[in-house]
Amino acid sequence: MALRPARAALGVVLLALALPANAAVRVVATFPDLADMTRQIGGDRVDVVTIAEGNQDPHKVPVKPSFVTKLNRADAVVVMGLGLEHAFLPALLEVARNPKVGPGEPGYIDASLYVTPLEVPSSQNRTQGELHPLGNPHFNLDPVQGKLMARAIAEGLERVDPDGAQTYRDGLARYTALLDARIAEWAKLAAPLRGVRAVSYHPDLIYLAERYGIELVGTIETKPGVPATPAHLEELIEAMKQQKAQLVVREVAYELPLAQTVAERTGARVVTISTLTGGLPGADTYIDFVDANLKALVGALSTAGRP
Ligand SMILES: [Zn+2]
Repeated sequence: MALRPARAALGVVLLALALPANAAVRVVATFPDLADMTRQIGGDRVDVVTIAEGNQDPHKVPVKPSFVTKLNRADAVVVMGLGLEHAFLPALLEVARNPKVGPGEPGYIDASLYVTPLEVPSSQNRTQGELHPLGNPHFNLDPVQGKLMARAIAEGLERVDPDGAQTYRDGLARYTALLDARIAEWAKLAAPLRGVRAVSYHPDLIYLAERYGIELVGTIETKPGVPATPAHLEELIEAMKQQKAQLVVREVAYELPLAQTVAERTGARVVTISTLTGGLPGADTYIDFVDANLKALVGALSTAGRP
């Protein structure tokens, strides 16, 4: 993008001309987290639709033809980034034929812009699963990363709709203050999680674990997106017993029985969380999503008696 500033600048001008006064900016957000943040920041200036549902596996979002129409008419697309949308968005964008919202264009808003990716594969381990090729894309579980997502979204909205700059800057300031207040509360709420050893179904906890001091023992999946094998499960169970793992984190999009089996074999407790906003009942905003996940984890801990 840095190589073609003239084109990007021209794009901003064209987009600004294309928006009649008072018309809301039409935004397609891939995930509910991004949709909520866009609405929190943009208020009445944005009209947001979402592609995925909160209880879906973000790596396996079913593609519907209706998304093509929405993308075709969109002024902006907001993506999580780091390849999370790789399985569905590139194909949809190609069919939608909307040059304003292609990758690298002003209308393509990448929420991962300011996130420092963790678990970036080296050339040696690039074969370790295909789902996280650019590093772990599940940064949205950590609310401190959430602040960076909000910043990237606000800047993207301003790029697409320069007349609304003040709205987006005020919206970002308000939302960041809201997040900061909750982040301080969550630090206290999550204190019991420090040093707790846990496994998850899919490798999606790294940012949350680093934030709150959870020690990850492994995953039920063999690699990102690769189902468990009996040999892998035996190894995992052995490691969990040795390290006295207390929690089996089962993300709402993944099956419960296997998580239960692993928990029963190790004396750990199953706790269901969501990797997306809207995945748990009553957690339809990003802030409620973070809150519900942390409360579930801490709640499971208080009832996870080990013999
Ligand atoms: Zn993943």
